[in-house]
Amino acid sequence: MTATMHAMVLEAPRTPLAMRERPVPAPGAGEILITVSACGVCRTDLHVVDGELKHPKLPLLPGHEIVGRVAALGSGVSGFTLHERVGVPWLGATCGKCPYCRSGRENLCDHPVFTGYTRDGGFATHTIADARFCFSMAEAGDDAELAPWLCAGLIGWRSYRMAGEGAALGLYGFGAAAHILAQVARWQGRRIYAFTRTGDIAAQNFARSMGAAWAGGSEEAPPELLDAAIIFAPVGALVPAALKAVKKGGRVVCGGIHMSDIPSFPYALLWEERHVLSVANLTRQDAREFLEIAPKAGVHAEVTRYPLAKANEALSDLRDGRLQGAAVLIP
Ligand SMILES: [Zn+2]
Ligand SMILES: [Zn+2]
Repeated sequence: MTATMHAMVLEAPRTPLAMRERPVPAPGAGEILITVSACGVCRTDLHVVDGELKHPKLPLLPGHEIVGRVAALGSGVSGFTLHERVGVPWLGATCGKCPYCRSGRENLCDHPVFTGYTRDGGFATHTIADARFCFSMAEAGDDAELAPWLCAGLIGWRSYRMAGEGAALGLYGFGAAAHILAQVARWQGRRIYAFTRTGDIAAQNFARSMGAAWAGGSEEAPPELLDAAIIFAPVGALVPAALKAVKKGGRVVCGGIHMSDIPSFPYALLWEERHVLSVANLTRQDAREFLEIAPKAGVHAEVTRYPLAKANEALSDLRDGRLQGAAVLIP
């Protein structure tokens, strides 16, 4: 008897995902088979489904914020036990040999594998992952509420570190990543200024409820100049807007994988050693740091749960900004 699994499959970009049944795969050498308990829906999934990220594996199971249980171990896997709770992030594998891998920058690997993009992800009842890039997840906490930690949390954390140590931090786009970081920042005694779409009162109230000292529209000036700003919304026009809001020497970190074009802006906005930089992917070290700090900071992700079969609805709600916090699929 062959066990079967269910998956929401992308067969071509810009088409809805389709529910498909497949045999449960066996893990190869170095891999683990995972029964998925929850999988977050990230903006990057939208960029893949909408064709803004080119050349995905097809057909593809999206999803790279996976929490599940080890169901089978491939040969040579150590460090995991059957039924243990694990997390699978966006970084699915690296080559281990290129100059980036060898200099502690595996997030920039020349030959990377990405979960839910160049290998199958977690919009499914089961998935296979490279054990070296999976993380043990402690037993405390709800599967669905932990799922957003795996990307919004991890890549958010990398962006947060890139923003430096300043006390006044702006967050443009108050979604899954921002609401997690706001909790870490508040725990560390920093002041968070949240910028949302103009007039999005619900998102501004949500930001205040997550500890933001101030919340307003993205064109508004915050009540103090910022040490740094992180842009999570995929909107290039926010780069000059954020540069206006940071003080001398301030940093503007672009935390997303895709952004609309950045409009030209006067050099005066960059002058006085302001920086603009992007954050790409994550390293396993970022993950270890975040997974250690998040429970200490009492991070609690606000999630909206959808059954696996409603993955298309979850994607639409994220695309249209109808969500507070993070969308999570429950198989
Ligand atoms: Zn590499
Ligand atoms: Zn993501």
